Formats: sequence, structure tokens, C-alpha cells
Amino acid sequence: MSHLLADLTWTEVAEVKHRAPLLIVPVGSCEQHGPAMALRTDSARAEAVAARLAAALAPEVLVTPCVPFGVSEHHMAFPGTITLDPITFQQVVYEVVRSVYRHGWRKVFVLNGHGGNTSALGVLLDRCLADFPDLQIAAAGISPVVNDISKRHAVSEIFGHSCEIETSQAMYLAPELVRDDLRVAGTSTRAELGPIGALARSGLAIASHQSFATMSALGNLGDARAATPEIGEELIATYIERVVPYLRALIAAPPTTLEVRS
Ligand SMILES: [Zn+2]
Repeated sequence: MSHLLADLTWTEVAEVKHRAPLLIVPVGSCEQHGPAMALRTDSARAEAVAARLAAALAPEVLVTPCVPFGVSEHHMAFPGTITLDPITFQQVVYEVVRSVYRHGWRKVFVLNGHGGNTSALGVLLDRCLADFPDLQIAAAGISPVVNDISKRHAVSEIFGHSCEIETSQAMYLAPELVRDDLRVAGTSTRAELGPIGALARSGLAIASHQSFATMSALGNLGDARAATPEIGEELIATYIERVVPYLRALIAAPPTTLEVRS
């Protein structure tokens, strides 16, 4: 039977629910990814990684449909980008989680394909802790889990969006979304970011938000020409290797009960 919740009938869901205690909720974005990658790159990566996790943990996992829109205000200068307000995005994921909670699931993993969603997902986890104390929920991005491998393969001082690392992932996971002949270098040095941008990316723990158009004319960082599907395969294989034990532990964890100390 499929690992995709929405490909099942309700009677099939009722039947497999007990042997699939973990639900993965992929979340992505519809936003510009430079000249060489399609707008749904983050959603496609999240879906493809979710499928690999489900295969590794079969039959204990089902995967919900991907939330196709994310928090992409910083990419709105580029045609086609669709953004949700961070509050709306967080509410959409909250209501997906609440729905599956009402159907009896108590273990949820939110698999995030888009860095811009991270803060909103942090708020989501805080809300879930208050509203569903017996829900065991976790969230993680893709690239942050394998940051050490990314650094080893990065050829640019500045990378992160539609760069050699993300493009490698897309070439491996969803090659149909990559325009190979249009892979070009983007903003790849601190100097190109100007003094404030350079300092913000120098390891200082200062949060700042700005339109991507002020950082990169084509909407990309790093150098997508250095991307290869082999790098993507190593990143994703390492991701699976690292996340599967966590999810196994989550599946095996006893139910949480709310304890109030007196
Ligand atoms: Zn992306």
C-alpha cells in the first residue's frame, strides 16, 4: 500500500493507521530559485526526502500531502513567487497537525524544504506543546541537518539558496526541475553583499531580513555550476542516515502524559 496518505481511501487509512504511528508532513515553498531551478524546488525536495524516509521506515510511516506554499516574502521581487504570511503558514501547518491528531496520531515529523519557514515552525512547535501535550512532534529542515557535508562541497564563500548545494540536491532528487544549461554563478562572496550583509553572514548572531533582490540580481547565491547529482546523493544519503534513527526512537517512544508537579 502507498505511503502517501492522500492516495489511500478512508477505509485503507483506518486499516493501516495502527501500524503507521508516525506521520511525516512535508512543507515547501513556491518561490524563485534563480534562473536554473523551478519554483517548486523546495516542495519537490521535501516530498522526495519524505518518500525516502517512508521507505526506510516502512510500514510505520505515512506522508501527508506537501504544504506547497511557504514564507517567501523575501523572494517576492521575482515573478511567480507566492508567499503566505508567516502567521497563515504556521496556522495551515497547525491545522494539518490538529486534523491528524484528531484522527489519533500522536507522532508527527514536519519535514521542511525551505529555510524561510523555520521561524514559523518554531512557533508551531510551541503552540503544539501547549495545545496537544501528548503529541510528540519534531521538525527539521534538509540542508541544516547535513551542514558539515555541505561545507565540505561548497566552492563559494556565500552559499545557501539555489547554490551548488541546493542545486546538487535538486539534480539528484528532482532533475526535471533543473535547467542544466542555465546553471550560473550568483552572489558568491561576502564583498558582493556590501558591509552590512557581509557582517551579518560572518558568524555574528544578528538576525536581519532583506529582499533577496538586494543580495542577488538573479536570485541565486553560490555557484550552481559546481553542482552534481553525486554531491546531492551524498547529502541526502547522510540526511537519511542521521534522521532515521531519530524517527525510529520517536516511533518507539512511550506516549507522553502531562505531568503537573505539585
Ligand atoms: Zn530552496
